[in-house]
Amino acid sequence: MARTAVSRRLTWRAAELREVRGETSSAHSLIFEVPGWPGHLPGQHVDVRLTAEDGYSTERSYSIASAFTDHHDLVELTVQRIPDGEVSPYLVDVLQPGMRVELRGPVGGWFVWRPADTAPVLLVAGGSGVVPLMAMIRARAQASVRVPFRLVYSTRTPEDVLYADELRRRALEDRGLDVTIVYTRRVPDGHGRPPGRLTAADLAEWGWPPDFEPAVFVCGPTGFVEAAADLLIDAGHEPARIKTERFGGTDA
Ligand SMILES: Cc1cc2nc3c(=O)[nH]c(=O)nc-3n(C[C@H](O)[C@H](O)[C@H](O)COP(=O)(O)OP(=O)(O)OC[C@H]3O[C@@H](n4cnc5c(N)ncnc54)[C@H](O)[C@@H]3O)c2cc1C
Repeated sequence: MARTAVSRRLTWRAAELREVRGETSSAHSLIFEVPGWPGHLPGQHVDVRLTAEDGYSTERSYSIASAFTDHHDLVELTVQRIPDGEVSPYLVDVLQPGMRVELRGPVGGWFVWRPADTAPVLLVAGGSGVVPLMAMIRARAQASVRVPFRLVYSTRTPEDVLYADELRRRALEDRGLDVTIVYTRRVPDGHGRPPGRLTAADLAEWGWPPDFEPAVFVCGPTGFVEAAADLLIDAGHEPARIKTERFGGTDA
């Protein structure tokens, strides 16, 4: 019922692209101005609708990367190009500042972190699944709360890391934030861990132990999320404390 009540209030809004920031060769952060944006919580997403001149329209969901800030009308998304995709190549390669899309949201009230929450937080990301987790990291910093956060981020190669500089800077400046990147295909020079998928040993070493009772957020392609959630449950984390968001696809 609550969900129905929320979705009834959602309307499509015009969103003008103001700025593009290249994250990697295949992912861009897109900063939209959305007049009248009602605000959001870290972890929520939006629906983006594209409409062609002949009236054909299609929509996809994208997580919000930005914390809700004083720049009330700005909403940042980070889109990873899926090579044979319909929408993501348009958003990454074609959309330019000044062009518009329609955007509806914020959507979702489950996969969210609130700065008033006191449990330590474990964030587990696969690929572009880091996007809503970055919103949580940014919101934590913005609210100046000291709840300890750990991010374990699985991605293919060093060139695929989203928000690389910002994550490095935040982890250096903030003793309450630990960032570990696990590479599945190729590691940087001098990196101790060989390439490979996320393992139970990675989560045991870089995550929180279950008896700390962390709030756990897992996000990424469906296969990654299911594998990571199984590892966490096998390690003894309470399923009720593990929140998951699946982006579709099967890549881990
Ligand atoms: C709640 C939610 C939040 C999301 N947030 C983000 C986000 O922040 N950033 C982002 O880049 N994407 C995000 N996605 C994924 C996004 O909605 C699209 O699915 C993605 O951009 C592909 O759309 P497309 O039109 O380019 O590909 P489509 O034309 O829909 O699909 C083309 C092919 O790619 C496969 N595919 C679809 N999605 C994925 C995927 N995620 N990984 C691997 N293969 C895939 C399909 O199975 C198909 O074979 C999110 C999805 C959900 C449900």
